[in-house]
Amino acid sequence: MFKDASPNDLGIRLAGHASPSNFSKKHPKVAFGNNWEIDLGVRVTGTNPDTNVPVMATCQFCTVFGKEVDNEVIVGEKKRKTKHKFMSFGPPWRKDHIQNHMKTCHKEKWDTYNELTTLEKASFFNNLQKIN
Ligand SMILES: [Zn+2]
Repeated sequence: MFKDASPNDLGIRLAGHASPSNFSKKHPKVAFGNNWEIDLGVRVTGTNPDTNVPVMATCQFCTVFGKEVDNEVIVGEKKRKTKHKFMSFGPPWRKDHIQNHMKTCHKEKWDTYNELTTLEKASFFNNLQKIN
């Protein structure tokens, strides 16, 4: 008498092989630029205590002047004004996001700021804060 040997087909599995992973990131990790505080008018307001890497930067135009235009967020069909008093940024750092905030919320000041020399930019907010 022969026992019915159950077919052992382990290991034969046609897994639909996914195409080679296309995980190349569009936006590689960008470190907070050394000159961004001056270039973009932001101030680093938080760093990782272990690595000293910036984890938060706050818009100085917001803190010094306030916003010229409130951010509006469209939720469904309603427009809501965001309650954020100061705009803060964090990783992943996107220079274009920061610039976009400056152009939309601080257009006049941003235009003025961009005409300054690097040295003038470096002292721009300090001077204003001393006056206040
Ligand atoms: Zn701002």
